[in-house]
Amino acid sequence: MGTEKRTTQEWQKLDSAHYLHPFTDFKGLAKKGSRIIEKANGIYLWDADGNKILDGMAGLWCVNMGYGRQELVDAATAQLEQLPYYNSFFQTSHPPAIRLSTLLAEVSPEHINQVFFTGSGSESNDTVIRMIRRYWQLKGQAGRQTIISRVNAYHGSTIGGATLGGMKGMHDQLGLTIPGVVHIDQPYWFGYQGDLDIDAFGLEVAQGLENKILELGAENVAAFIGEPVQGAGGVIIPPKTYWPEIQRICDKYGILLVADEVITGFGRLGEWFGSQYFGIKPDLIPFAKGVTSGYLPLGGVLVGDRVADVLNSDGGEFTHGFTYSGHPACCAVAIKNIELLRDEGVIEQVKNVTAPHFAKRMAELADHPLVGEVRTIGLMGAIELVKNKETKELFTPKGDVGFICRNACFANGLVMRSVGDTMITAPPLVITVEQIDELVALARKCLDVTAEQVL
Ligand SMILES: *Cc1c(COP(=O)(O)O)cnc(C)c1O
Repeated sequence: MGTEKRTTQEWQKLDSAHYLHPFTDFKGLAKKGSRIIEKANGIYLWDADGNKILDGMAGLWCVNMGYGRQELVDAATAQLEQLPYYNSFFQTSHPPAIRLSTLLAEVSPEHINQVFFTGSGSESNDTVIRMIRRYWQLKGQAGRQTIISRVNAYHGSTIGGATLGGMKGMHDQLGLTIPGVVHIDQPYWFGYQGDLDIDAFGLEVAQGLENKILELGAENVAAFIGEPVQGAGGVIIPPKTYWPEIQRICDKYGILLVADEVITGFGRLGEWFGSQYFGIKPDLIPFAKGVTSGYLPLGGVLVGDRVADVLNSDGGEFTHGFTYSGHPACCAVAIKNIELLRDEGVIEQVKNVTAPHFAKRMAELADHPLVGEVRTIGLMGAIELVKNKETKELFTPKGDVGFICRNACFANGLVMRSVGDTMITAPPLVITVEQIDELVALARKCLDVTAEQVL
């Protein structure tokens, strides 16, 4: 199957006839046809016509170690031969899940020593909801049901994950959401219109959490959840004052802090976890994506001692879990992936070499006539496209120009994603300094092509 040869058009025809893609306007896609990606190596993809494309999104924020790592293939193969599947229900366990949970306890922050496995980021956030509610029930404070999240957050696409998320387009289609989730503002500096400076702005947005807690009554609030850096929302990098203030407010009212590290976990910000970058101490850390570099699906929730101590106390069964919780082959790949990240010094390289270079080179794009702001953190970057550079006037309707730019990128050998009129990039963590230069040069070319069409 993997080597079956068809033309791009033949693939497209079968694709639109049978395959319903995620987050897709099916009719629109059938008209345009999919881009067919056939193979990959390092940071590059090849389409069915043989075009080479620099993957500036690491797949979907997940291929941290890059494509084509034989060690990961071998780890999966060996485990599939040894024990392709067994569950961890009913008093059973197996070495890959035990070894991975031990390794995760080693690389995660000091106060985290236990993990619950899932198959994806969405399942991880559903698990977070279940676990938070169980925690407060066991504490005898079952009234603490409400979870405070943020506008424009992305926490996955199951009904739980989508309810937690703050994406308007998703909420518009959800119908009845799960009760007990409310949203406060996001720390989006570029979108802010007032006269505070950036640090005061960070504090003000964080204060929104305290205001919401007081409005609801602290005795009704279970937890706050946020991505250390909002990813799908457009790489929203909070002011440095933001997270410490959020931590302070959670501590003050005794509410649980959840850091959704599905993107920022496993090295994206030059630390094992984004919460370490921001100096916060989450009680729960949902993860997925980079834990296996996307080679096989795996997610989970890292559980801090405060919650673990309660879950491990008298109270009987926690009635939650998945058939594929701790899947042996996925765990084997995760173990090897974490070992590669650690033993090859990939995360230190991001922190000390490639992230600083990425920041410097990306910042040069700020002189482009189409660009209103460039921001980066670790190996995440965003470019805000504007109609008028001086006044920062935005395009209307929002999103059309981002779309044109995204197409221009694909046509010129680069994957960047558009969120409205924000172009975002998050390349594999193994990208070299020279390859960052190539990425930035391609990005500038794509901005030029876009500017010719829209300015
Ligand atoms: C991708 C993502 C998810 C959802 O993960 P899936 O594996 O697609 O279910 C949740 N949270 C964040 C922050 C994500 O980026």
